[in-house]
This record gives sequence, structure tokens and C-alpha cells, in this order.
Amino acid sequence: MKTAPFKYHAPSTVDAMVSLLAELGDDGKVIAGGQSLVPTMNFRLARPGHLFDLNTVAELDFLRVEGGKLRIGALTRHAAFHSPVADGALGRLLADVVHHIAHYPIRQRGTFCGSVAHSDPASEWCLVTATLDSEIIARSRRGERVIRGGDYFQGTFATELRPDELLTEIRLPLFDASWRAGFYEFSRRAGDFAISMTLAAIRIEAGRIVEARLGVGGVEDRPRRISEAEAALVGKAPGADAFGMAADIVSKTVRPMEDLHADAAYRRDLVRATTRRALEKAAAP
Ligand SMILES: Cc1cc2nc3c(=O)[nH]c(=O)nc-3n(C[C@H](O)[C@H](O)[C@H](O)COP(=O)(O)OP(=O)(O)OC[C@H]3O[C@@H](n4cnc5c(N)ncnc54)[C@H](O)[C@@H]3O)c2cc1C
Repeated sequence: MKTAPFKYHAPSTVDAMVSLLAELGDDGKVIAGGQSLVPTMNFRLARPGHLFDLNTVAELDFLRVEGGKLRIGALTRHAAFHSPVADGALGRLLADVVHHIAHYPIRQRGTFCGSVAHSDPASEWCLVTATLDSEIIARSRRGERVIRGGDYFQGTFATELRPDELLTEIRLPLFDASWRAGFYEFSRRAGDFAISMTLAAIRIEAGRIVEARLGVGGVEDRPRRISEAEAALVGKAPGADAFGMAADIVSKTVRPMEDLHADAAYRRDLVRATTRRALEKAAAP
């Protein structure tokens, strides 16, 4: 099918974009890579009267390390992460995660921030954003605000972002050399959305885990950290006993959704496996 008619706008600055959102945002949508929005418009599940093109806002096309953070501008495509974009565990982690997102042509157009704005519960970048103490920068005519990654996701396709707000940037803290990170995803076929995935980051000192971040996606209606499992890992030696225990806690704690691909019991079982394997990947030499 083809989209319903809409009026196209090509603002060239963030200020012009947020003015359009303030005036027409109730009947309009930002288009970034279009890889989620255009299919929903083609199926007429979305019928915005106005499209505001982000691709003409050149000031949002940046990706850089600054002040101990990776700053990801709203025009950064998935493909930018095919090679490590930062030193250490964060760059390696993102370069591993990106290969699970869709397929090569989609990764050339789709954006990191577009995924987070869209908020599919099985999106890999949403899991990264929810797990890694990120900051989400939202701009409107009222000014700029920072939303914490842990507070941002409100459910399937539901976020803290307001209709008149533009997501301009996401900031991820860099890991220092004491951190290790691992990601493991299960999906039916390469490029499909995850049925279960886990991101694990552990900081090790003197052979013990002293800090942990552990998040799951594709399992519940939103990605989230499982703080019970994080707390249980602290003080333990990295290895099969600690990882098996954390995986059991995650499996017991989640409230899995059910859909065409998997029922709740299967997801609960899968998340135990993806968690153990993500932790094993994190600890691997
Ligand atoms: C076949 C296929 C397979 C896919 N598989 C995966 C997968 O495995 N994992 C995965 O994560 N994704 C997958 N995707 C989705 C893809 O990653 C999209 O690129 C991504 O979800 C949205 O990014 P986008 O830049 O294309 O956003 P768009 O499609 O342009 O926009 C999506 C939504 O976000 C809003 N939006 C976009 N940018 C902003 C912004 N800066 N501020 C405010 N609102 C904004 C739009 O208004 C729209 O509502 C798949 C897509 C396809 C077609």
C-alpha cells in the first residue's frame, strides 16, 4: 500500500524543527531513517498530516567522544557502529550489538535515536540505552531536558518523550579498563527482532565483581535493568556459579510478554540462557 497524503517539511535547524513540532506536532511526525515509520504509514497504521524531515538538520549529524561520554547525534545511522566508535569495552560492545539489527541496507538509513524514539521493546539500541546509565536529550520550544535511560521507556512504543519534543542526542558513559561487557541475543532468523536478549557489563577488581549492569530486552513490554541480579553478582568471582545464579534470578524476576513468536514460559527459559551467555561473553578473555 501507499501512504495517506501528507505535507512534507524540510527544516534546516533544530530551532526550526522544534517550532514545527510546537505548531503542528499533534498531527505530524519526525522522519529520521524512515525504516519504522514508512512501513507503518504504508500500512496506514500511522497517517500523519505532516512529516518533518530530520535529514536536513545537519547540526544533528555527529558522533563523538567528549567528557567521558559517547555523544550520539540524532542523525547517526546504525551503520556508523559497524566498527568500534570508542576505545575499550563500549566501542567493542556497540560493534557487536549493531550486527543484530535488521539487515545491511536498513542499517544504512535507520538511526540510533530513531530506534529509541520509536521504542520497540525488542530494539537492541533501546536495551543499550536502558542498561548503560544513558542520558536522552530532548529539545522543544520550552528548552532542553535530560531524561535518564532508566526512566525513559514506558511500554511498547511508549516513552517519556512528549509530542512537541525532538530527541536530539543520546549520551553513553564510556567504560574504563576495569569494565567488561557482553551481549547475547536469540531471534528466529538473523536480522529479526529479538525474542530475548541480555546486555551484561561487569567491573572486576582483585578477581571479584564490584559493579554490574544487567538489562534484558524483547522479554517484557520494555527493556529494563534487573537490579536484583545486579546486586547478587556484586562480591562474587566471575564464573559459572555466579552467572548461573544471576540467570536464575533474571528468569524468576521478569514478567514475560506473549506473542506469535513465543509464549511466556518459553521466554522465561530463553532469558535464563541469554543472560548466562551474555555474562560469559563479558568475562571471556
Ligand atoms: C525488515 C526490518 C527489520 C528490522 N529489524 C530491526 C531489529 O532487529 N532491531 C531494531 O532495533 N530495529 C529493527 N528495525 C527497525 C529499524 O532499526 C529502524 O531503523 C528504527 O527502529 C527506527 O529508526 P529510524 O531512524 O528509521 O526512525 P523512523 O522510522 O524515521 O522513525 C521512527 C519513529 O521515531 C520517531 N523519531 C525518529 N527520530 C526521532 C527524533 N530524533 N526525535 C523524535 N522522534 C523521532 C518518528 O517520528 C517515528 O515515530 C527493522 C526494520 C525493518 C524494516
